[in-house]
Amino acid sequence: MIINLKPLLSGKTSVLDFSYEITDTEDNPVIPPDDVSFTMPIVVNGKITDNAGYMLLTATAEINYTSHCARCLEDLSGKFVLTFNRTVATAGTLQNESNDEFVIVKNGELDIDRALVEDLLLEFPSRLLCKEECAGLCPKCAKNLNFGPCDCPKKKEIDPRLAILQKLLEND
Ligand SMILES: [Zn+2]
Ligand SMILES: [Zn+2]
Repeated sequence: MIINLKPLLSGKTSVLDFSYEITDTEDNPVIPPDDVSFTMPIVVNGKITDNAGYMLLTATAEINYTSHCARCLEDLSGKFVLTFNRTVATAGTLQNESNDEFVIVKNGELDIDRALVEDLLLEFPSRLLCKEECAGLCPKCAKNLNFGPCDCPKKKEIDPRLAILQKLLEND
């Protein structure tokens, strides 16, 4: 969405709130990572604050997702919240306008949607777990160990010095 900064630039107000939704469009595609489904839209809430000409943008972008646990493979769902903070600069005042500490105002307008989506995809966790202490699957019988232990014989603890020796033999 285009955010109109004129009320801020003219000094009418010093805080501009905004909230809107981003959907998956051809211009701004939202392609989830492998094995993740997003439930559109992305919900954006934020504000721009003007401190005597120094403008700061703070926003959050929220997306609901479904996926699978990286350890036990069970279905999971959740909400990811991105925090997005940038300094607002006017076009032509920066040497490097692709600097990602800044968002650029052009003709009194600001469009942060592409930057928001790129950040969201970058920051989205690459490994999702159903819970932090997920016990995962038994590598032998594939039983989900969150529901209790399986009947497979437990491996004996290997002496770490022997483990190194074993590794050397395997690499031979
Ligand atoms: Zn799990
Ligand atoms: Zn087992």
